[in-house]
Amino acid sequence: MPEAHPDSKQTIQDNRDYTLFSWSAQAQTNPIHMVGGQGSHFFDGDGHTWLDFSSQLININVGHQHPKVLQAIKDQVDTMCFAGPSFATDVRAELGRKLAEVTGLAKSFFTLGGSEANENAIKMAKLYTGRDKIITRYRSYHGATMGSMSASGDPRRWPVEPGIPGIVRVFDPYMYRPPMGGSAEAWEDGCITHIEEVIQMEGPHTIAAMLVEGITGSNGLLIPPDSYYPRLRALLDKYDILMIDDEVMSGFGRTGKWLATQHYGVTPDIVTCAKGLTSGYMPLGAVIVNQKIADHFENHFLAGGLTYSGHPVSLAAAIANLKVYEEERLFEHTLEMGRHLGQRLEAMKAKYACVGDVRYIGLFSVLELVRDKATKEPLAPFNGTSPEMARLAAHIKSRFVYAYSRFNFLWVCPPLVVTKEELDHGLDVYEEALALVD
Ligand code: PLP
Repeated sequence: MPEAHPDSKQTIQDNRDYTLFSWSAQAQTNPIHMVGGQGSHFFDGDGHTWLDFSSQLININVGHQHPKVLQAIKDQVDTMCFAGPSFATDVRAELGRKLAEVTGLAKSFFTLGGSEANENAIKMAKLYTGRDKIITRYRSYHGATMGSMSASGDPRRWPVEPGIPGIVRVFDPYMYRPPMGGSAEAWEDGCITHIEEVIQMEGPHTIAAMLVEGITGSNGLLIPPDSYYPRLRALLDKYDILMIDDEVMSGFGRTGKWLATQHYGVTPDIVTCAKGLTSGYMPLGAVIVNQKIADHFENHFLAGGLTYSGHPVSLAAAIANLKVYEEERLFEHTLEMGRHLGQRLEAMKAKYACVGDVRYIGLFSVLELVRDKATKEPLAPFNGTSPEMARLAAHIKSRFVYAYSRFNFLWVCPPLVVTKEELDHGLDVYEEALALVD
């Protein structure tokens, strides 16, 4: 049991006085003072233990303070804390080889996180194809740097509009709410024929790539039908358009596989990743490209890279983190816990009038909340909140379960090490909250 921090209130005040918090109007921030963590839990400055039901932005897959990852970081710090991005290092070789093995692709370009990975993937696709446009989907998030933010579809892109040129957006495989009000069955076909029509109208010869989240995460966890990715892959091949698979959130075990698209049997041309690559222990992302793209850059200039690219301590953390996934059979555990989670979510959907839909794969899941199951009117508007959602979130917080909620969505994404008891406890608290607004 952690002890209370002697000066927690002052620490929070100093944080607010001297630093700026991301994605918020500063007056509205209400940060928890985090002082440590262990496994599925973290500790706050008042001595409370929280169940981390959103894995710190769906990221800390091996849980807090995993000793093997900590040790690898310490060992690398002792051996060689830094090497510039143009040096060959042991950790760079080992991680590059491992990423090629688990993705079926060829070479990795290391970045500091997910946004920068997407930024470079877009750049590499343009350099490789000599084309300018990138297709993305409306309900997608690809990051907060200028290019990745404007490539996103969700409202978080609005502040940088008009953003980078050449982004063309299409509708998503959102089967609970097909755009333009058709049926889910019709939309299974329609969402692909719609993309083909957009490709034709834009001119296939102008489109470098389509950038998709393997499974859309922060816009409501949209799980496509089985046919979606095989058909999309074939469509993009037909027009020589690259498929960039953003696995920043859905990759590295979150769905029980290395990549979410592996559930659908397709191999993208480029994969971007971060988060579960190191479980957040050190900042790291990667752009992993296929052999053809890698070969292209043998004799064409790869214009990109930062001072800290390929930071050895981050690479060492990633290697140890990936070993933990394998040695502790965490993906099998994720699938087993995911089956239990799915059963509980289905039971919640049957029991509560406000649960319109539940979507889950591995330990990646969401409840979509509504006022009325028949009309599907959302419990909070798109890009907004409501007193009911605020009440629900406040109750969950009061029980020291840390949940991610946005619009009318409530996620369940604990660390992959979560136990059945921890999962049940968090879900019991969610049920208390649902009962309040049902
Ligand atoms: N892509 C996806 C799908 C994400 O969910 C995120 C972050 O949440 C990013 C990209 C951006 O990654 P980062 O915050 O590491 O820059």
